[in-house]
Amino acid sequence: MYITSTVFLSVSPHQCIGHITVLLNSGSVFHALCVCVLQGDGVCRRERELYPYEDSENGKVMGVNADGVEDLSTLTELNTQAIMHNLYLRYHKDLIYTNIGSILAAVNPYKQIPGLYGGEAVQLYSKHQLGELPPHIYALANECYRCLWKRADSQCVLISGESGAGKTESTKLLLKFLSVMSQGSTGAAVCERTNRVEQAIIQSSPIMEAFGNAKTVYNNNSSRFGKFIQLHFSQSGNIQGGCIIHYLLEKNRVVRQNPGERNYHIFYSMLSGADKDQGDLYLLLDSAEDYHYLRQSGCVQDGSLDDKQLFLSVMEALKVMEFTEEEIRDVFKLLSGVLHIGNIEFMTAGGAQITSKGVISSVCELLGLDAFQLCEVLTQRSIFLRGEEICSPLTVEQALDSRDSVAMALYSQCFYWIITRINQKIKGKDDFKCIGILDIFGFENFEVNRFEQFNINYANEKLQEYFNKHIFSLEQLEYNREGIQWEAIDWMDNAECLDLIEKKLGLLALINEESRFPKGNDYTLLEKLHSRHATNPYYIKPRVTDHQFGIKHYAGEVLYDVRGVLEKNRDTFRDDILNMLKDSRLDFIYDLFECVGSRNGDDTLKMGTNRRKPTVSSQFRDSLHALMATLSASNPFFVRCIKPNMEKHANEFDPEVVLNQLRYSGMLETVKIRRAGFPVRRTFSDFLHRYTVLLRAKRITDGEDWRKCSDLLTVFDASRKEWQLGKTKVFVKEVLEQKLERERDEV
Ligand code: ATP
Ligand code: MG
Repeated sequence: MYITSTVFLSVSPHQCIGHITVLLNSGSVFHALCVCVLQGDGVCRRERELYPYEDSENGKVMGVNADGVEDLSTLTELNTQAIMHNLYLRYHKDLIYTNIGSILAAVNPYKQIPGLYGGEAVQLYSKHQLGELPPHIYALANECYRCLWKRADSQCVLISGESGAGKTESTKLLLKFLSVMSQGSTGAAVCERTNRVEQAIIQSSPIMEAFGNAKTVYNNNSSRFGKFIQLHFSQSGNIQGGCIIHYLLEKNRVVRQNPGERNYHIFYSMLSGADKDQGDLYLLLDSAEDYHYLRQSGCVQDGSLDDKQLFLSVMEALKVMEFTEEEIRDVFKLLSGVLHIGNIEFMTAGGAQITSKGVISSVCELLGLDAFQLCEVLTQRSIFLRGEEICSPLTVEQALDSRDSVAMALYSQCFYWIITRINQKIKGKDDFKCIGILDIFGFENFEVNRFEQFNINYANEKLQEYFNKHIFSLEQLEYNREGIQWEAIDWMDNAECLDLIEKKLGLLALINEESRFPKGNDYTLLEKLHSRHATNPYYIKPRVTDHQFGIKHYAGEVLYDVRGVLEKNRDTFRDDILNMLKDSRLDFIYDLFECVGSRNGDDTLKMGTNRRKPTVSSQFRDSLHALMATLSASNPFFVRCIKPNMEKHANEFDPEVVLNQLRYSGMLETVKIRRAGFPVRRTFSDFLHRYTVLLRAKRITDGEDWRKCSDLLTVFDASRKEWQLGKTKVFVKEVLEQKLERERDEV
C-alpha cells in the first residue's frame, strides 16, 4: 500500500481537512478525507475518522474532478462520502450549489459571495434552460417559472434543512428572481399594479422577519414561525397577487428565552432605532437591559445583527405596504406595552400583590387599559358560576403566568394582524397558476425540547414524508404501472414514525385527549404515552428522567420535556383577561381581540368553559394536512439546504455535521434514484403537443402517438439510455429534456 498524495487544507484555526490518495496492493485506488483537530500550539493532537469517499478500479479516479461535479447524479461511484467530498470540493471554491437532477443542494456559505445573486446573475439565469449554467437557486427558480407553461399544474418549491441551513435566505432569493421575471413580462396596462404587488411581496420579508425571527443558539435569524407564500401568476407571466399562510408562531419566546437566545428582533430594533420623539411617545426605557423580557436570557446584542438598521428597513417596509401612521404608532405602542408588562412584579400578601404600580400606569397608558381592572385580573381570577361572579386570589406564580399570558396574547394577535394586513395588500387575481414557496422552521434538537420543538419536528417529518412520496414512492409506483425497466431502490421510510405521532391513539391523540381532561396533567400524560407506546421502535422511554419522552425522528433522536405540554396545547386564555383587553380605549387593541380572522386569531383565545375549542396541536395538524393537500396538487421542486458547521462560520466544512445531514435527508438514495430514474414524464399527447415544432422539423408525421414520440426521441438519443416508453407516457431523463427544450427554442 502506498500513499501517493496528501493535500491538507486548513479550514479553521483549529481544524484541517486532508485529502489522502492511497494506492492499494490490489492496484485499486482509495481516497479518503481525514479531519485533524489542531490544538493550541497548532500541533495536530487528535485525528478523527477517515471518510473514504471513492474506491475505484485500476487507479482511475472516476466521477470527481478538482471542482467536483455539478450534478451528483453523474457521479460514477456512489456513496455518501463521495457526495460529501464533492460538496466539500465545491464549497471551498464558493460553489455552494450542486444539482441532484432537478433537486438543488445548497450549502450555507455564511458569507456574501460577490456577484452570486446580483441583477446580472438574475438576467443570465433567466435566459438559460436548466442545466446550461452552473447550478444555482436562480436556475431552479427559472425552471419553476417556465413550468407554469410547460406543465398543467401549479408549482411549489419546498425548502428543507435544519435550523440555520439557509431556508429563509433561499426563499428571499426565489422571491427576488420571480419578481424580476414578473416585471420583465409585464405589459404597460398592468404595470403599475404588478409592480406594487411585487414590491409589497419583497417588502413583506423584513416585516415578517422583524416580528417572527429571533436569535437562537442555532441561527442568529431563526424563523420562529412557518410560512407558505403563494404567488398568483397571470397567463402572461406577471405576479397578480399573493397570499401568506403562517404556521405556529412561537409565542412563548415573548416572555421567556433560553440562555444566549433573544426575544423577537423587533423589540431590540425599536429600542435602538426609535428617535427621541418616538421614545417619548412609546414610553421607552433607556435600553434593552431595562426590560425583564429582554434581559433574562443574558443576551441582548449580537455582533451579526444590526438592530438599528432593521428598524429603518421595517419602517420603510411598513410605509411601502401602506400601513398608516396611526397603525404604525399603535403597533409600536403595543410592543412597548408588552415590554412594560414584563416588568410588572408581585409579592405575596394574602395572595399576589403588585409591587410595581408605576409600571401599571405605563402599561395602561400604552394599551388604553383601566389600571384597576388590570391589577384585578393579574392578581385574582374571576369566573361566573350560575350568573354569579366568583373571585379567587392568585399565588405569585399564577399571577406571573397571567401577566405573561397577556403579553403573549397581545404579541401574537399583533403578529397575526400584521400578516392579515400584508395579505390584504398583496391580494390579487388568481386566474392562472401559482408558485408556492414553503419555508418552515427547520428540525430542532435543543438541550431542552418542549411542545414547540415537538410541533416543529412533526412538521419536518411531514415535509420529509412528502419528499419521500415524490422522490421514491410515487416514482417507483409509476415505473411499475407503466412497465418501465427499473431497479428498485431502498430508502428510509418515515411513515412509521409519523404513525406514532399522528395516527389513532398516537402521541398527538393522547396529548389532545389528556388536554380535554380537566384533571389531566403533564405527568398523567407521560404515563399514558409510556404505557401505550413504550414498545414502539420509534418511541423512547428514557430510563432515568421522569419528565421526558422521546421520538426517533428521521433526522435523529429527540427527547421532549413533557412539562408544560398540556397548558400550551390547551392554550387557554381566561375570559376575564380577554374582556379586560376588549375594554381597551384603543380601537386597535379592541379590534385585535374582536375582529382578527378566526382561523389564526381569536378562535385560539376564546376558551371560557368551552372544552371543544380545538387544541393547538390539532389545529396545527389540520393546517399541515391542508398544506400537504395543496402541495400534492402541485409539481414540486426541492431545495435541500445544508449547514456546513455548527459555529455559523464561513469557510468551515465540518464533515461530521454535513455527513449527518446527508444521511438523514436520504441524499444518497436521492442521488441513486435520480440517476437511475426518468424524472420527466409526459403523456404521449402532451409530449407531442409540446414538441410539435420539433416533429415538424424532423419530418415525423406518421404513426400512432407512441410511435411519433419514439421516433422523435430516437433522433435525440438512439441508444435509448436517456428515455423509455411506458404504456401511456414517455419517460425522459433531465439531460435529454434539456436538449429537447433547447432545440425547441431554437427552431
Ligand atoms: P431557521 O430554521 O432557524 O429559520 P433557516 O434555514 O431559515 O433557519 P437562514 O436564516 O436562511 O436559515 O440562514 C441562516 C444564516 O445563514 C443567514 O442569516 C445568513 O447569515 C446565512 N446564509 C444563509 N444562506 C446564505 C446565502 N445563500 N448566502 C449568504 N449567507 C447565507
Ligand atoms: Mg428561517
